[in-house]
Amino acid sequence: MSQRPESAGEPLSLWWDTLPRELTMPIGAPLDGDADYDVAIVGGGYTGLWTAYYLQRADPALRICVIEANVAGFGASGRNGGWASALFPASLRQLAERTDRTTAVRMKRTMHDAVDEIGRVASSEGWDIEWCKGGTLGVARSPIQLQRAEQDIADMRSWGFGADDYSLLSAHETAARVRMTDSLGATSTPHCAAINPARLVRSLAMTVASRGVRIFERTAAISIEAGLVRTSNGSVRAPIIVRATEGYTATLAGQRRALAPVYSLMLATEPLPDDIWNEIGLADRETFHDGRNLIIYGQRTADGRFAFGGRGAPYHFGSRIDPVQDRNAAVHTALRDVLVDLFPAVAQARITHTWGGPLGIARDWWASVGIDRSNGLAWAGGYVGDGVGTSNLSGRTLADLIREQATVLTTVPWVNHHSRNWEPEPLRWIGTNLGLHVMNRADAKEQRTGKESRVAGIFARKIGH
Ligand SMILES: Cc1cc2nc3c(=O)[nH]c(=O)nc-3n(C[C@H](O)[C@H](O)[C@H](O)COP(=O)(O)OP(=O)(O)OC[C@H]3O[C@@H](n4cnc5c(N)ncnc54)[C@H](O)[C@@H]3O)c2cc1C
Repeated sequence: MSQRPESAGEPLSLWWDTLPRELTMPIGAPLDGDADYDVAIVGGGYTGLWTAYYLQRADPALRICVIEANVAGFGASGRNGGWASALFPASLRQLAERTDRTTAVRMKRTMHDAVDEIGRVASSEGWDIEWCKGGTLGVARSPIQLQRAEQDIADMRSWGFGADDYSLLSAHETAARVRMTDSLGATSTPHCAAINPARLVRSLAMTVASRGVRIFERTAAISIEAGLVRTSNGSVRAPIIVRATEGYTATLAGQRRALAPVYSLMLATEPLPDDIWNEIGLADRETFHDGRNLIIYGQRTADGRFAFGGRGAPYHFGSRIDPVQDRNAAVHTALRDVLVDLFPAVAQARITHTWGGPLGIARDWWASVGIDRSNGLAWAGGYVGDGVGTSNLSGRTLADLIREQATVLTTVPWVNHHSRNWEPEPLRWIGTNLGLHVMNRADAKEQRTGKESRVAGIFARKIGH
């Protein structure tokens, strides 16, 4: 019998709601009693499943299980904006400060390759993930945003990236690809593909399950300790345990302050007719945003809708995660207004889906992947909303780390990076929501005064990340 998880009585996301039936079939029964494995992975999203995929491929004899509280793809992996991008939460400058320029640039190029790797695997495995590598356009809609776009591209040149990787489009060149209001030009990069995220995560789960990885769905881990995952249905013993719970990490015993869950919210329009798309453009399904401080992101879906989202929902006290938070009328209305402001042609389009989900943010906004050899505990996450590409890199890196292979992937600067814990409440709540407030204020001030008010922080999107 097919399963389509819901959130507060509504579809989990556009992607889940429109999945073909064969991708909604149950993949694994719940754990029933105690069990032993070589590697136990907690969390059945991209991170956990890519790790299982590459580990199994490298060593088919390994006994691997994935423990998933709901169903595989229930988390952000089945709900996101479908940007398979080369974005990484830490900037090139931050990476270089920790290592050196060459290593920072190598990390960025590794991220470029992660995008292509997803496409390669999908194609070789025969997954239909609605892949279209049309790149990303970051449209500048005010003189300040244009100035920032110019600075961003100049910055990428200073790191040695050429126009094939990052370029600035004139207003005319931009209009040839997307007709967005107030457009003065755009940054452009080919390093992003629009995908259907739920198709990716479910295809991945079905493939690893068919190769012998045991997926225990509807089995919530209560705690992770050296050699042992305790769940509501029994315990799993394994010398290597991977924590792949991202925005849900705070629900595990002792991990409340490791990653702050912050919600990103999305909506989808009904499929739009060809004449509207002719007016708008995005013929190559380019993913897009504009130059404001508070992130917005969109894609033209394979079935001709807008899937459009943004950060901006408040952080909830105590790192609370609740399906009720997947929808926020004020934020969803604001998102619709922004979409119509960018593309007035969609003003009459029906909004068919609204949804959201938690992503994970480390205290220093660095994503990391690693393993503690002394106790066999491994982890990956803290992607701050750039996890589609990065989690593929996590999976390959964890497969190397777990098998004790020193490879080019195990030497990039996010490996074994340790972020400190977030502050206890109420400081965590005050700090996170203050960041959000500052971003909103900065955008409003720029609009009012026409003066630059750029804010570094978790909610900003910059090409050099
Ligand atoms: C609305 C939204 C839009 C986004 N857009 C983009 C985008 O366009 N591009 C991009 O790169 N990134 C985007 N992201 C972020 C991206 O989706 C995530 O970074 C990525 O999916 C993280 O994958 P994951 O496997 O680490 O975590 P998840 O997919 O969240 O998986 C974690 C899994 O762990 C399970 N779990 C939780 N607790 C337990 C437990 N106790 N025991 C067992 N299992 C447990 C959950 O049910 C879940 O399935 C977006 C995120 C959201 C929410």
